[in-house]
Amino acid sequence: MKKPESITFALFGNPVGHSLSPLMHNAAYKKMGINASYVPRRVENLEDAIQGVRKRNIRGVSVTIPFKTAVIAYLDEVESSAQQIGAVNTIWHDDNGGLAGYNTDWIGLVRSLEDVLDIQKKTFVILGAGGTARAAVFGILERGGTPLIVNRTAARAEEMAHEFGCPFYPLSEIGGIRADCLINTTPVGMAPDRKKSPLRRDVLGNFRWVMDCIYNPLRTQLLHDAEEAGCRTLDGVGMFVHQGAEQIKIWTGMEPPREFMYQIVLEKLGEHDGN
Ligand code: NAP
Repeated sequence: MKKPESITFALFGNPVGHSLSPLMHNAAYKKMGINASYVPRRVENLEDAIQGVRKRNIRGVSVTIPFKTAVIAYLDEVESSAQQIGAVNTIWHDDNGGLAGYNTDWIGLVRSLEDVLDIQKKTFVILGAGGTARAAVFGILERGGTPLIVNRTAARAEEMAHEFGCPFYPLSEIGGIRADCLINTTPVGMAPDRKKSPLRRDVLGNFRWVMDCIYNPLRTQLLHDAEEAGCRTLDGVGMFVHQGAEQIKIWTGMEPPREFMYQIVLEKLGEHDGN
């Protein structure tokens, strides 16, 4: 009997060397009994890379920094949530050769939050106004929560707040805001700048929950300070696992082993935590 052909998936970004996506995806396909390989590719020219997807029959692509917005111009269709967020992190190369764009970051964030709390009717401070903040605001609104945008550059927060129809505040006013949960979508505190935090300690007591989208390190300075202030905390690993799992669902139509993927990522991060 002929062996089924291996399916190729790829990660496009620059840089990509630090990414845990290849480890997580390849482990998941093996566990699911799918003959597939997921390869990282550092992209210099996005147009060439997308042509390569069509030519080499790569069936799915994860898209990361700095291409999540730029990639939209090269796709045949973009799903409505990705259009509203303005970013694509997933490409599906369909049987007819079409390339469709999706955003699974928002579902990843929402599912990770829903693992620990109910979003509906709760208030969330979204710290930042970049791509991840847009995914967060979209997701919170989808699930019936209320997002408030707080950003260093107030004009950027204002523009985004206007677009999504929610309030915004400059970072200098955060001391006066109370909410059920604060979500950090800025990169402040990411390795190697582990000692940095995007917020002063004394304001953290205003939030019952603090979530950091960063997952390396696992325990960011923000989460450490939040625990000391008596908040409940959530790191970015759950979001990372769920956004990847949703990509696998789009590409294979099968439910991936989320808990297994979580353990694989956690183990890898644990090897580095504290270094
Ligand atoms: P981005 O588009 O570059 O946006 C960054 C935002 O952070 C901007 O609003 C910026 O404010 C703010 N910021 C940057 N440096 C700051 C500082 N020193 N003080 C205060 N605010 C600052 O970035 P992104 O693509 O959204 O990614 C953000 C983070 O989310 C990254 O750490 C990424 O790893 C993480 N992420 C995690 C997952 C996951 O699965 N867990 C998924 C996606 C992203 P200004 O507007 O003032 O410049």
